[in-house]
Amino acid sequence: MSEILIRNRMLAGALAGYCSWIIYGIVELSTLQFTAWIVMPRHDLRPLQIGMTIALFFGYGLIGALSGAILALCLPLAQALRACTSLIVSALTLVYVYAAMDAWTRGEHRAVLLAVGITGLLIMSCIAIRDNAVGRLLRPFSNPWGACMLGVIPGWIANRLGWVAQLRNLGIVVAIVAVIVAIMFGFQRRRKSEAFTLRSALGLSAIAVLLVVAGMVYTPTPLLTAYKQTQPPPNAPNIILIVLDTVRADHMSLYGYDRDTTPGLRAFAKDSIVFLNSYSAGDFTLPSHASMFTGIYPARHGAHEHLGSALSPNATVLAEILQSKGYSTAAIASNHAYLTAHYGLGQGFEYFDSRARPSATKTYRDCPSLREGIAGWLDRHPSDRNLTLMYRDAEEITRLGMDRLQEFSKQRRPFFLLLNYMDAHSPRLPPQPFRDLYPGRNPLDAMKRDLELKEQVSYLGRPLPEVDRAHVVSQYDGAIAYMDSQLSVLIGDLRKSGVLDNTILAITSDHGESIGDHGFFDHAMSVYQEQIRVPLLLRVPGVSHRDPISVPVSGVDLLPTLLESAGLEAPQGLDGNNLLKELPDSRVVYAESYPNPSKLGANRLARIERAAITRQWKLIVSTKGKRELYDLVNDPKELHNVADSHPEMVAALEPGLAKLSMAAKAQPSTRSSDPEALRKLKSLGYAGGQ
Ligand SMILES: [Zn+2]
Repeated sequence: MSEILIRNRMLAGALAGYCSWIIYGIVELSTLQFTAWIVMPRHDLRPLQIGMTIALFFGYGLIGALSGAILALCLPLAQALRACTSLIVSALTLVYVYAAMDAWTRGEHRAVLLAVGITGLLIMSCIAIRDNAVGRLLRPFSNPWGACMLGVIPGWIANRLGWVAQLRNLGIVVAIVAVIVAIMFGFQRRRKSEAFTLRSALGLSAIAVLLVVAGMVYTPTPLLTAYKQTQPPPNAPNIILIVLDTVRADHMSLYGYDRDTTPGLRAFAKDSIVFLNSYSAGDFTLPSHASMFTGIYPARHGAHEHLGSALSPNATVLAEILQSKGYSTAAIASNHAYLTAHYGLGQGFEYFDSRARPSATKTYRDCPSLREGIAGWLDRHPSDRNLTLMYRDAEEITRLGMDRLQEFSKQRRPFFLLLNYMDAHSPRLPPQPFRDLYPGRNPLDAMKRDLELKEQVSYLGRPLPEVDRAHVVSQYDGAIAYMDSQLSVLIGDLRKSGVLDNTILAITSDHGESIGDHGFFDHAMSVYQEQIRVPLLLRVPGVSHRDPISVPVSGVDLLPTLLESAGLEAPQGLDGNNLLKELPDSRVVYAESYPNPSKLGANRLARIERAAITRQWKLIVSTKGKRELYDLVNDPKELHNVADSHPEMVAALEPGLAKLSMAAKAQPSTRSSDPEALRKLKSLGYAGGQ
């Protein structure tokens, strides 16, 4: 065999390998990213991760060219060209088998069926390499377009449909497979040669480049609706509401924490009103924000079911009221799982931006593919913050917030701006120096650890290992300190520009976080203090500084407080009150925790919990018959249930809780199951596993 012949053979193999793998990259990217944008525009607010995409195309091209050249040396040329496709299917099979094993260990059988399917594809594409009658019959399975589509699309469809739990969904997947196979056979008939030319390699490369450029140009846009031309009242103040997602008050130095996590807010508190006993109405983002926006408790607004109910479009929300009074309204939210138009929380905002950060490892897709496999592998190893951070960090939210303020300054209308910061929410990855600001960080801790801990501690009832607790607390506190530093930047900017002089500013959180407290890890699980006691600072122009207020207050108070401080009227029939008015010392506020349907298997969470809270006492009742009374003044960590020794307090607080329960029962169920929403929530740890 002459040298030229070998070189030509290797070149033909390299071309075939390169083209096959670029085809795979094109099919994968189109299915995982572009189809999601087209099919679910309200859900998918995740821009393309350009770096990872370019790296993958380079990697695929290189692997393809090398493996094709080697195959051409070892096999007869025609077989080698076809074997390039089998190599892709082999790699995909490994990813599928791994996904199936992973699912199996968690008691889910979902991926197994698809693993069996892809193994079948591998066997057929291996037989199709051979030059015998059976091989020729199965030849379409060695076509890279068809094989790549069969390897990626059914898994993606099955995933969109909530896997193949139902027979109907299984039918759809089978139909899709049948269509692809039919196209493959049709295509094979017209195919003249199996060899790829230099021209096809160039053409495919051009398609790949085009897709990447399209991904760069197309980035999900914030919702921008036209405002109503209503004249605002003269000198109406602006309103800024800042929600620090997942921040419990007792981890802030402002509230007495021994680590100085909030020096900026301590300084800001000097000319604002601090509420010492502020509670979120719910224990996770959706009900809590919905209560802040409507001024009523979750039992009444109904947006409290995990993975389910959205805030009704009929609800009257703060942004809507302000917009109708001539305000410009904008929201920039880092929490892209719940603060979405899909959950009804975008109502009334002219500008609503809750895009995700393009993360290389958090892809939401879960559908087995090489890209997912690599992302999953990166995710299991301590990796770079830029690569893994899945939500927009405090710096970005602050910068975008200041950009919006610039936009507002060009208008002659007052504005309402909502900023939601997410850094204290898991997975917590504060930047340096905040990452190492407090001791305890475990450098080996992987991103997946939070989900594992949630499973073990909250669902299986195991204790939180000390090394994990120290790590999580160090990152949690570091994240709070990081947000505090960014708030100082924002407040400094507001002061400098003079905007603060005519702006009502409220800073709060939507819920806390259990870090092993009461046997829980994460939030959305109970109404114990660590999950619902949140900060609240209020600065109103013209209202002088007051001593910290210890009467209990709630997220439902924000709507009437902000509206009336701006000289506007609040709607009738709210659960909340204007906090600037004198509140009775005997005031009771409420908080609720609803079960997560995806975790009903975890018996301890299969109940609704409600709390009635006064300045000193807190009664917790659950639909499972639990009745706990705590003396918050003498037992702030809720360690001693004194229900038996204080029956009079139980009797006094119970009727209010019963009323709330009645209100919840009167709510029509709006629950809908939506696999895409479930997937997004899962990626943020809301619904791990089954
Ligand atoms: Zn939240």
